[in-house]
Amino acid sequence: MRYRSILLLAFLFQHCFNLYCQNQRSNRLIIANVNVIPLYKDTLLRGMDVFIENGKIQDLKQHAERGKSKLRKGLFIDGKGKYLMPALIDCHVHYGSNAALFQTYDSLYFQYGIVKGLALNGTPQLLQHRDSIRKGLVYGPEFQCSGPKVNDPSMTALQAKKLLQSLRDAGYDFVKIYSDLSKEGFYEISREAFKYRLRIAGHIPQRVTTSGVLHSNQELIAHAEEFLYNPPVNYLMGNIEIPEKPNPIYIPALADSVRFYQKAVSPTLIAFKSILQSAINLEAYVKTVPLVLSHPIAIAWQWSKETSFIPKKFSSPLSISRLQFGYEYQLKLVSAFNRAGVLLLAGTDAPTIPGLVPGLSLHQEMQLLHEAGLSNYEALKAATINPAHFLKIHSDFGTIEVGKEASLLMLNKNPLENISNTLEIESVFVKGKRIKNK
Ligand SMILES: [Zn+2]
Repeated sequence: MRYRSILLLAFLFQHCFNLYCQNQRSNRLIIANVNVIPLYKDTLLRGMDVFIENGKIQDLKQHAERGKSKLRKGLFIDGKGKYLMPALIDCHVHYGSNAALFQTYDSLYFQYGIVKGLALNGTPQLLQHRDSIRKGLVYGPEFQCSGPKVNDPSMTALQAKKLLQSLRDAGYDFVKIYSDLSKEGFYEISREAFKYRLRIAGHIPQRVTTSGVLHSNQELIAHAEEFLYNPPVNYLMGNIEIPEKPNPIYIPALADSVRFYQKAVSPTLIAFKSILQSAINLEAYVKTVPLVLSHPIAIAWQWSKETSFIPKKFSSPLSISRLQFGYEYQLKLVSAFNRAGVLLLAGTDAPTIPGLVPGLSLHQEMQLLHEAGLSNYEALKAATINPAHFLKIHSDFGTIEVGKEASLLMLNKNPLENISNTLEIESVFVKGKRIKNK
């Protein structure tokens, strides 16, 4: 009996040890001789060996031919001629109310190298999904999550306080402010949110105005277009029959004040551009993206001409001109924000507008940020280290440095030379695991 127990114990030990060794092996990865875009400064580190262990970057060394015995300890990937950058963050996405689609979004985000972000207009199901991902029960991008939009034009201070309590109890990370919220509700949320460990993000409520938001505790202004709809610019969209352009005279002062009050801005230029393109010719625009109108996401978000709000809201030629003028104005505004040193966060609003494909749209946003005047390096930062700072995950994420999370994008071409090269994806690594391999 005793002999058999010892044998059994030895067998179990051996079995566990084998599993342990397998794990050790599978948790090690070397990407050899790769060009690293670290993003802690504007530089390219040519021919590096990147050592990854247990999901973290363990070491970065100039490439050297190492003994086979050392390389055999881990999975070896030849990175010659490739470019390695941190994986991406989308600071404005929507998961909607249909939980059956959550994993479809997740896999699109991973496919395009987005591994973190901020999801707006959350639901209890989305919180559950967020927590399952955090616990490792479900494989998907790690999103922080705002509550449902707060948009009550008659909200009192007492109601605002109750709302904050309920958002905290539910486990949300952010309060999402919307355009019609009352002054009283907004200022109560601004004063009290931090006591409930909630951060504030969203639109500029028209009753509060830009100046009110700048003086408040709201940390993130979503959409550059918000600055158009409020004083001093006061330029509205819709079927308005006025041919003028918004006045650029306000841009420098707006940029300086946003910088002075340290607000982050996620311009979501691709969302506005998608509205403009859909207003011009929805069907032609949607055909340019790799997601057909019969796809469950396109159906859920009403992308078709018949269901979308856009053809109805922008039916006159003048309303389309105003969209065009408004879009050009936002490019100038973003350029001024960048020169002033405003923290710019790449965000998309996907998939709320026709043609706004989850994942792909973040790459398009980087291209538009570049068009607005950001250098390629600055556009890459807007989708990596800038939002990592904003989401307070920068000690673990957002650059390629020893000790940081090994969530990486390996590209066939250099995005510092051409920003659209972020779409030349060879592989995506999530915490040291390769998930895409063309
Ligand atoms: Zn949104």
